[in-house]
Amino acid sequence: MSSAIPPAGEAQSLKARDVGLKAQMLLPLGVVLALLLVAFVATFYLEEKEHLAEEFRRDLKVMQEFHAEILGEKTRELAAEARMLLRDARLAGALAARDRATLARLGRPYLEEMKAGFGFTHLYFLDPERVIVLRAHLPDWQGDRVVRQTALEAERTLKPASGTEVGPAGTLTLRHVTPWHRDGRLIGYLEIGMDIERLLVHALEAFKVEAVALLGKEHLERADWERGMRMLGRAADWEQFEACATAFQTLPEIASGLRERIASQCRDPDPASFEIALDGRNHYGSFIPLPDARSREVGKLLVLRDVSELQRDFNAVLARLALASVAVGLILFAVFYYILDGIERQLARKRLLLRESRGALEQAQREWVTAFDAVQDVVFLHDRELCVMRANRAYLEHAGKSLKEIVGRPYWETFPGMRGPMPGCLHALHEGTSDEEELALEGRIFLCRNYPVSGAGGEYLYSLHIMQDITERKRYEAELHHRATHDGLTGLPNRYLLTDRLEQALVHASRAGRHVAVLVLDLDRFKTVNDGLGHGTGDQVLKQIAARLARCLREGDTLARFGGDEFVAVLVDVARLDDVALVGQKILRALAHPLSIDGQELVTTTSIGAAVYPRDGGDAETLLRHADIAMYRAKERGRDNLQFYTQEMNVRTRESFEIETELRRALEREEFLLYYQPQVDLLSGRITGAEALIRWRHPARGMVPPDRFIPLAEETGLIAPIGEWVLDSACEQARRWQDEGLPPIRIAINLSARQLRQSHLARLVRQALWVNGLEARYLELELTESAVTHDPEEAAARLRELSATGVGIALDDFGTGYSSLNHLKRFPISRLKIDRSFVRGIAANLDDAAIVSATVAMAHGLGIEVIAEGVETGEQLNYLRQRHCDQAQGYYFSRPLPAGEFAALLLRGEPLPPTVEAQPSQQSG
Ligand code: C2E
Ligand code: MG
Ligand code: MG
Repeated sequence: MSSAIPPAGEAQSLKARDVGLKAQMLLPLGVVLALLLVAFVATFYLEEKEHLAEEFRRDLKVMQEFHAEILGEKTRELAAEARMLLRDARLAGALAARDRATLARLGRPYLEEMKAGFGFTHLYFLDPERVIVLRAHLPDWQGDRVVRQTALEAERTLKPASGTEVGPAGTLTLRHVTPWHRDGRLIGYLEIGMDIERLLVHALEAFKVEAVALLGKEHLERADWERGMRMLGRAADWEQFEACATAFQTLPEIASGLRERIASQCRDPDPASFEIALDGRNHYGSFIPLPDARSREVGKLLVLRDVSELQRDFNAVLARLALASVAVGLILFAVFYYILDGIERQLARKRLLLRESRGALEQAQREWVTAFDAVQDVVFLHDRELCVMRANRAYLEHAGKSLKEIVGRPYWETFPGMRGPMPGCLHALHEGTSDEEELALEGRIFLCRNYPVSGAGGEYLYSLHIMQDITERKRYEAELHHRATHDGLTGLPNRYLLTDRLEQALVHASRAGRHVAVLVLDLDRFKTVNDGLGHGTGDQVLKQIAARLARCLREGDTLARFGGDEFVAVLVDVARLDDVALVGQKILRALAHPLSIDGQELVTTTSIGAAVYPRDGGDAETLLRHADIAMYRAKERGRDNLQFYTQEMNVRTRESFEIETELRRALEREEFLLYYQPQVDLLSGRITGAEALIRWRHPARGMVPPDRFIPLAEETGLIAPIGEWVLDSACEQARRWQDEGLPPIRIAINLSARQLRQSHLARLVRQALWVNGLEARYLELELTESAVTHDPEEAAARLRELSATGVGIALDDFGTGYSSLNHLKRFPISRLKIDRSFVRGIAANLDDAAIVSATVAMAHGLGIEVIAEGVETGEQLNYLRQRHCDQAQGYYFSRPLPAGEFAALLLRGEPLPPTVEAQPSQQSG
């Protein structure tokens, strides 16, 4: 799996494939920006427009107030002038006398004065009936009765009254009418007035507006109005509007659009403001009511303001604003585009990485599941509640259920034979550490291991549970154990088991203050039986004697066969020494009866030596040795008797003393020599190695086999110099053969238990290799199982030192010691030598054959090569070949040979036959 970041080009192409982030975000963003822009501009536009309208309305109001103020001032001036005229007694006399000429003569100069000073244009003298006596302003007029509101009001209240009136000519005037009294009698009325249009025009100019004054037609007489208008030089079109007539206008003419609006709204009690284009210029318009003196609405003043300039300025600002907003929007858009583009590239890269790692993850998961299922052992995961999370195929096959049926359920409910949670698994869960236990389920034995698994933060995730079916291994181990502890022929315990039981008995006896007796029995002249009647008969004799001996002992006592014709009995819980003598006598008597074998009668006697705890020794080894010495004394005493051990006996026998002395000299006299027995590869048939076996060429006794002197050498410590001699000689011989051009082979030498305990053993080995110039791979050291099991810790350390020198290590006589797989796993062993007792039984004994084949399979499983010892027949060889045993050694190929003969065999280089015809067993020699 590559974790590199993909190159930019790749990311580009990926980006194209994925739905674009930009498309997803920029489009809405653009729309939102555009909407915001439009909304902003529109709001601004409306705000500003409203502002203009509002300003217009405010101006109108101010204008109205301004106008009202002027009217008020003019009214006060009118009243002041009227008061001045009323004081003129000549005028009062002329009015009372209806003297029009005097009134005209006196009144007109007043009018001229008022016109010049205040702009007053009208002056009437009315009689008490409100009939005009003199209209002082031209054209002169008399006789009409005034029905204007001001006059009526003055008549009604007999107090001065003033206000706006629609004049007879259809103009708007401000009037002031004062009742005129003389000597407490009403002589008439004085009316002064002025056109207010000029005032209006004044106000309109101040506010820069155009205006049209409109009067309701019901307040006008058409003829009067038309005449009045002509007189004022204004265009008079009575038909122009249906309901009203124009009193005056500042517009040169009324455009058609405006005309329509006036027509429709001049009667409207609450006319709306409006906007209108006149001569291509925009105007705001509004109607202001025109009240008369009685506050009746007599008409409307249409006010128009040209807002084109303002709007143009405003539009220019608006355009600049919109432009600026668009620019800001575009910049924002570009910035977003840039950012999003960057994000999009990064996303594309991340996505690619994600895809890659997901692929790798899926692959890993597939591999994991395949591996999980491929495991032969039952494997499953469970959670804290001990419910199955996952299980492999082996689990499902055992349970006979599908994964669906077991997931989520407590495992013991689905696994056959379980009654509840396994204790080890609860322990592991509780302690958070892995645990191991053996469990018997429905006739099979499982080795169960539980491993709690934690996450990165140390929190519990799940537990991995492995159940290995070790039924076969257990059976095999039990079988090996039985083999290792019992004699194959008689089925009695062997030396190993007896020693063990004896040690236990001693512990018990020391606590209970009892005696333990050890009897060593050696059959008298058994060799004669063997040699004379054959081994078959010898074996039967041994079996029958074993049975008889067993009958002589009590329950709790142990009878063992120590090999050959030697038996040992351990009598526990002995109260008196006499009891031991009684048992001995019983045995001697039991054997005195002849045995019946194949119809023949045979008599065998035995010599018995006895040693008693605690008198004759405090440990098993001493007791056995002393009983052995006593047994020899029994032999010396003419056999078929029992001897108790005594102190005097502990003097070594003359013979063994002699041998020991001779053995010491043998090294100096160079009486030792090595024989070599070939080891053959079963695939190629070639010689790949040789075992060096020591021989003692005794000047008087002839060739002495190792069994006769090695134990003594071990006991006396002579094994150390002898062993060194063997190591050195074998290395030297191997090197010499290589120098002679023979095919290089591996030489195996035997090490005794005592040698293994030497702390400088590895140094000795290195030295021998170096001195003789032999490569370490051509040397192999053979050790028996008992040598390594004596002190497994020390042995393991020593073997590791040896292994580090590069030499091979073989476990000799495998199957005769306390064989446990643990040894094989713990020690750096490269080869396993199956003991010849198993090989001998291959053809006849099914158990032996099974053990041989199981040993080969198991050793191969641990990566260890297997060599079979003592192969004597083609049948044995064929069986070993079928079971894939790697090598073999035995008389079938060759007996141990002197160096010269072995070299000749090696030189011939004849491969031994790859397959052989089964042959009848040969007698070994
Ligand atoms: P071992 O190491 O198990 O050696 C194999 C023994 O089996 C040899 O007996 C050999 O002659 C014998 N043998 C080989 N092929 C056959 C066969 O086909 N049938 C039968 N029946 N026997 C066969 P050997 O030479 O008498 O040696 C006996 C034991 O003495 C050896 O057993 C070994 O434990 C010990 N030994 C021999 N040489 C030395 C040595 O240099 N040092 C030490 N410490 N012990 C040695
Ligand atoms: Mg050996
Ligand atoms: Mg052996």
